[in-house]
Amino acid sequence: MHDVPAYERDPYLQALATEAVEVGQDGGTPWAVLADTVLYPEGGGQPADRGWLGEVAVVDVRKAAGAIRHVLAAPVAPGPVTLRLDWARRFDHMQQHTAQHLLTAIALERHGWRTTAFHLGESVSDIELDVPALSRLQLDALEEEVAAEVRAARPVRARRVTEAEYGTLPVRSRGLPEGFEGDIRLVEIEGLDLNTCGGTHVRSTAELEAVALLGTEPMRGGTRLHFVAGGRLRRRLAGHEARNAAIKAVLDAPEGEFVTLAQRRKDELRDAERRLRALAEELAAAQAEALAGRPGALVDAHFDGRDPAFLGTLARRLAALAPAKLAFLTATNEAGSYFVLTGGEQVTADVQALGTQVAATLAGRGGGSSRLFQGKAASLAARAAALATLRAALPA
Ligand SMILES: [Zn+2]
Repeated sequence: MHDVPAYERDPYLQALATEAVEVGQDGGTPWAVLADTVLYPEGGGQPADRGWLGEVAVVDVRKAAGAIRHVLAAPVAPGPVTLRLDWARRFDHMQQHTAQHLLTAIALERHGWRTTAFHLGESVSDIELDVPALSRLQLDALEEEVAAEVRAARPVRARRVTEAEYGTLPVRSRGLPEGFEGDIRLVEIEGLDLNTCGGTHVRSTAELEAVALLGTEPMRGGTRLHFVAGGRLRRRLAGHEARNAAIKAVLDAPEGEFVTLAQRRKDELRDAERRLRALAEELAAAQAEALAGRPGALVDAHFDGRDPAFLGTLARRLAALAPAKLAFLTATNEAGSYFVLTGGEQVTADVQALGTQVAATLAGRGGGSSRLFQGKAASLAARAAALATLRAALPA
């Protein structure tokens, strides 16, 4: 068993012939402890690696009971085994994590902004800085300073030192865990930063490729700064490009006009909806007048393409215009079928009780008052039957 795991000795090592020295299950989930490992367990803001033990997927890696447990998709037998690392995922983590070291160092050295937290996200990572707010100008300056250090291709190295040596070194963040014993792992960005860290890092700031600062949000009196580095930055740009092309096709405009045009379309849509609502009101008023003029105690009508709001407006207007009539109104649009039963002040029939009957006949549901019952129907196939029920309920 190695004192220093392979992922720490060489973070670029992607496979390892090793041995499963202890296997077990935790709540039905199998795990294995190996003689050595290239898989980093979760810690210091860097997520656990993924990989394969033989052909079995490693779904998590955790420190437990003084060992590194590889949580497995299926059990394995003790003995010799080949461990492979999901290298693409790991290298991405190394880029984001090392970018964080660089950002944190420059933010502190050049601006006096201290990093209080780090989060490596699925798509975007962030650090929290103890500064109330950052302007876009400040972000641009910080991004440019980081870019200069990426171009400088500064070597990044990790080493272990004794506690005595540690005390003599200019380490950025002091503060070891209570009762800490043994060697301390230091990570150095040559000429720029020296810090304690147990994670995995790229070997040169050049391997960060580029770091983009995306934006900020206030967080617990400080500022959360979102960033992406390396391959993520290129994939993110590719995503933006694809989306841009799709939006360009939809709006049929050059990308410089997207925002103005989208805002204009939104305003136009709001105006059109307002006009449509006014027209529907007018239509409901005209329909109410027409229905009120019909002979008989029961009127019924169906409206294709209308919504429940239209039926409701029509019903209220009709009840006011023709207080002696019972009205059964239905509508169908792309979202479903609807019905309203309404009775004016002079109607003696119990609209609520009749509405419940109609809802049952139409295999629907609804509710309302003694004057207006509104509901949604599964279909209007039994509309004639519902109408017959209402006719039978009215005085001859
Ligand atoms: Zn680190």
